[in-house]
Amino acid sequence: MIPFNKPYLTGKETDYIYDAVNTGKISGNGKYTQMCHSFFEKRYGFKKCLLTTSCTDALEMAAILINIKEGDEVIMPSYTFVSTANAFVLRGAKIVFTDSCEDNPNIDADKIEDLITPRTKAIVPVHYAGMACNMDKIMDIAKKYSLFVIEDAAQAIDSYYTGTDGVKKALGTIGHMAAFSFHETKNIISGEGGMLAINDLQFADRAEIIWEKGTNRSAFFRGEVDKYGWVDVGSSFLPSEIIAAFLWAQLENLETIQEKRKQLWEHYYGGLREWAGQNAIQLPNIPFYATNNAHMFYIVCNSLKQRTDIINKLKAKDILSVFHYISLHESPFYKDSHDGRDLIQTKKYSDRLLRLPLFFELDSSHVIRHITE
Ligand SMILES: *Cc1c(COP(=O)(O)O)cnc(C)c1O
Repeated sequence: MIPFNKPYLTGKETDYIYDAVNTGKISGNGKYTQMCHSFFEKRYGFKKCLLTTSCTDALEMAAILINIKEGDEVIMPSYTFVSTANAFVLRGAKIVFTDSCEDNPNIDADKIEDLITPRTKAIVPVHYAGMACNMDKIMDIAKKYSLFVIEDAAQAIDSYYTGTDGVKKALGTIGHMAAFSFHETKNIISGEGGMLAINDLQFADRAEIIWEKGTNRSAFFRGEVDKYGWVDVGSSFLPSEIIAAFLWAQLENLETIQEKRKQLWEHYYGGLREWAGQNAIQLPNIPFYATNNAHMFYIVCNSLKQRTDIINKLKAKDILSVFHYISLHESPFYKDSHDGRDLIQTKKYSDRLLRLPLFFELDSSHVIRHITE
């Protein structure tokens, strides 16, 4: 059987976990957590990183940091995971769902400005499949209306955006903050895990407090205050050293992992191009300003029926392919709160997008052969 995903282990994960256990520090913010923070800050240029127990938690931290309250509005795509919305709904926000682009599932930046009201507080672009949203346009709108931008970069590790200024920037370094995921289905994993990346330093000190249950414990351990206590709201957002030690083993192999995933992706693209053309199937379109971090290989079928047929054909060969999001604006939880706007592109991806297996140890030739035969 070829599963949709198989978590890749570099072989060092348990060694580092063993080391963390042996040093006697297994709660959060120890040696491995700090090694991971500085790896990300150095390699990608985030101003400050905080590992979290999930991307979901990082998004919740961001919602607290920008003081989301009852009645605030947050603009985001409908074609995304529930956590993107939940983080803000939990603090009373109304979600204003926006359609995707015609040629890729990211938020259509041209549709954002019309949705802004005096209550709009933030825009949350999601870099679907690790490919950048149109960030220049989004940042320009945010600046014009004084909005915060929180990048949902759950799938976007090691991917870049080149704007009109010609500077290549890592995804997650562009908005005020960004949330990453290290869930086992992502490129770099720790089972469950995530990270809040902060680019606007006005949030840095408070982020650390919220991360540590609303206390100034981190400042205390650095010797900056002589006692620590309850100074703000917060929760337990930091992961244990066991998680960070696992993640460190992955980070040491980031280049190898990325190279292999990109090879598999390119192999799919080349191997499926002719078949896709013959069957009116769309292969991924990478916008000119985006790079591909090979998080996902998806195809867009020409109908729901064609997608179901391909899923069944592959299943008969023991290959698992899976569709993706059910549009959030049509979800049982939120459909009555949505303002009724039709989101045509979102519906297209909801009905017709199909993801193929993509993981380090995949034999992609086998999948390509069975799809195209
Ligand atoms: C995976 C994912 C999340 C959630 O990540 P967790 O680490 O599982 O909380 C959020 N948003 C998007 C777009 C994702 O793909």
